[in-house]
Amino acid sequence: MEFLASSLLELITQTSTNLPPDVRAAVSLATDNETPGTQSSQAFNIILANIDMAQEDEGPICQDTGMPTFYVHTPVGANQIKIKGAIIEAVAEATRLGKLRPNSVDSITGKNSGNNLGDETPVMHFEQWEKDEVEIKLILKGGGCENKNVQYSVPCTLDHLGRADRNLEGVRKCLLHAVWQAQGQGCAPGALGVCIGSDRAHGYELAKQQLFRTLDDVNPNSVLAKLEAEVMEEANRLGVGAMGFGGKSSLIGCKITAANRLPASFFVSVAYECWAFRRQGVRLDASSGAITKWLYRDPSRPIERMARGEGFPLTGREIVLTPPLLETQMRALKVGDVVLITGELYTGRDNVHAYLMKNPPPVDLNGAALYHCGPVMLKQDDKWTVKAAGPTTSIREEPYQADVIRKYGVRAVIGKGGMGAKTLAALKECGAVYLNGIGGAAQYYARTMEEVLDVNLLEFGIPEAMWHIRVNGFAAIVTMDSHGNSLHADVERATGEKLEELQQV
Ligand code: SF4
Repeated sequence: MEFLASSLLELITQTSTNLPPDVRAAVSLATDNETPGTQSSQAFNIILANIDMAQEDEGPICQDTGMPTFYVHTPVGANQIKIKGAIIEAVAEATRLGKLRPNSVDSITGKNSGNNLGDETPVMHFEQWEKDEVEIKLILKGGGCENKNVQYSVPCTLDHLGRADRNLEGVRKCLLHAVWQAQGQGCAPGALGVCIGSDRAHGYELAKQQLFRTLDDVNPNSVLAKLEAEVMEEANRLGVGAMGFGGKSSLIGCKITAANRLPASFFVSVAYECWAFRRQGVRLDASSGAITKWLYRDPSRPIERMARGEGFPLTGREIVLTPPLLETQMRALKVGDVVLITGELYTGRDNVHAYLMKNPPPVDLNGAALYHCGPVMLKQDDKWTVKAAGPTTSIREEPYQADVIRKYGVRAVIGKGGMGAKTLAALKECGAVYLNGIGGAAQYYARTMEEVLDVNLLEFGIPEAMWHIRVNGFAAIVTMDSHGNSLHADVERATGEKLEELQQV
């Protein structure tokens, strides 16, 4: 197996940096369906440009490369222990090269292992088959969309949809609810992997495995094929839109399987996947480990450019913000404004926010822009470089954000998916704004980052540290302003009303 290590490294690199053709086609179609000039359409422009940049530079499409999860089929008699060892080494090497973010955190001590290795990471599933070759599939599913996975135990009562019974109509309601509850927090437009039945644990596993089907396939079970088509059509009438900005594209795929269940249980398990749908697979020669075939792409076919025109066209109406920011400037902003930040910002996510509850900040946050981001960073020649740096899901900081704004004078919070009522009240009281970046656009944002000026709290690990970065032309949309307006609350309300209409269909 002399080529096994290089084949695995290539599989991880391609998965992290090069979106498969079926996902590209689905994102392209979703873009075409969006109304030009809307916020959702602007988000798509950045998403398309980001997909191109990731492939050109072999950089992670999104900074959150998830919990690497491998599914391996081997011929009878193949040495699975050897393959397992090679996967572990390839994951550590891909992390060292900046193709994966160090994402493995000890759940008891909170320590990041730094190389993506640790108890039960990476995740590996092995199975034997009768073929004489090895097949390895990989999925990189980040935390934002993983947090939007949901499991329904029917019968149950759903917001806006009423009772979901133990039948396919009940399943349909659960799936529409799954899309609605995700809003923009899982980086819509998303895709659903679904399992009807089984038990709680295996149901989730089977739901995730559905994400290995190509988005354009047709379910061989005609009943499920019909349900998939119905859910796609109805979910795209909800109006969630890209990033939850409101719009016509909410779902790019719905893949459903069914498994037998206990008489007492009826679970509908949903694996919610974001637009940055990273999965790949290879077949390997069982004796050399060389790649003989790619499962989701044809290397002989040229990769199509995704961006239309110049990518993200500026209109000249964008508002340039240069931190430190003033209260008067923030009060002048309103929901829908597009801003370009040029100057310095600080990153801070879960650990930083928890830290700031008990400790003063290590930097002056007065007038600062605080970016919810866990970047991929590499130290090269003693200097940190940004390899990928899109926004993370902001709602996780809801218990802390209002206090951080009030106590330390933060004027702009940047993230994705929006925040809740407590934060909105603090923005109004203090004169600050929430800026929504485009989730998953890690390469696009990395290119706006001119220099890493400093880092604090590095003991939390690379994604959780507080990075001090100089940016140029960092684009974001005001989605919560200092006048009590929240685009997220508006879209949630409007899509909830749409669900009620669909309930009556
Ligand atoms: S695109 Fe969004 S949901 Fe997907 S991995 Fe990246 S940050 Fe997470």
